[in-house]
Amino acid sequence: MSFRGLEGKVAVVTGAASGIGAACAIRLAEEGVAVLIADIDDRGSREVADAIIAQGFRAEAVHLDVSSADDWADLAKRVQADHARLDILHSNAFLEIKAPVHELERADWDRQLAVSLTGTYLGVQAFAQMLVASQGAIVLTSSVHALLGFAGRPAYAAAKGGLVALGRQLAVEYAPAVRVNTVLPGSIMTPAWDPQTEEEMAAHAAGILVARLGRAEEVAAAVAFLASSEASYITGTTLVVDGGLSAFKGL
Ligand code: NAD
Repeated sequence: MSFRGLEGKVAVVTGAASGIGAACAIRLAEEGVAVLIADIDDRGSREVADAIIAQGFRAEAVHLDVSSADDWADLAKRVQADHARLDILHSNAFLEIKAPVHELERADWDRQLAVSLTGTYLGVQAFAQMLVASQGAIVLTSSVHALLGFAGRPAYAAAKGGLVALGRQLAVEYAPAVRVNTVLPGSIMTPAWDPQTEEEMAAHAAGILVARLGRAEEVAAAVAFLASSEASYITGTTLVVDGGLSAFKGL
């Protein structure tokens, strides 16, 4: 299945060397979008871009630390020079350092916010003009952590809650030219889950209505929809992609 209005567009996807970002980049490329795979993991970005190109679609790997205003400025120059437009910005990169507040170093709090929240501010600052000119779309990746508390993740939760508010704010700010929506994934099987044991994942799946963890492709379908013209009347809102995790009230 494909979504209308994506063919020929240009997208930047951050954190696209792995997991959900990689799946979103692949899905958008399959829909006919030229995708810039933007990540600090240069090797991972190249592998994702090469896999997309091998399938006959368009992608390029670009180095981007989302917390660096200079990196964003360089990327905007490159996109302007190579494509003269940007239609879709998917802000998805994150950093998580687990510790309760009383054990979390200030530097680790600041760094998580810099990547997972300020990175979106910097990206929009760099590309707002181009997105307005192209009547484009922004999609943010938040998390069910914006809705639910999980132990040991204060900065992550604050960043993800902040993204829901920021997404709504951006939608107001750049309307009617740019639509802005935020996806809230639940438990999605990506390398971010590597530290968990099989038993921990099985216990986790038991609390999810569809009784399993999600696949990155299932988030990518939501992102591609929100970026497409089929979502032309949807802006300033959130889409929870969590298999019913946040609907479950417990036993
Ligand atoms: P992942 O670890 O597979 O991928 C994250 C990517 O972000 C990596 O490629 C990493 O190199 C990149 N990255 C980290 N710091 C960066 C920086 N400063 N600049 C640019 N890139 C940077 O993780 P994932 O599970 O695919 O998560 C992707 C997004 O989905 C995140 O925003 C995360 O919060 C969200 N999310 C994931 C889950 C889940 O269960 N996997 C659940 C809810 C939300």
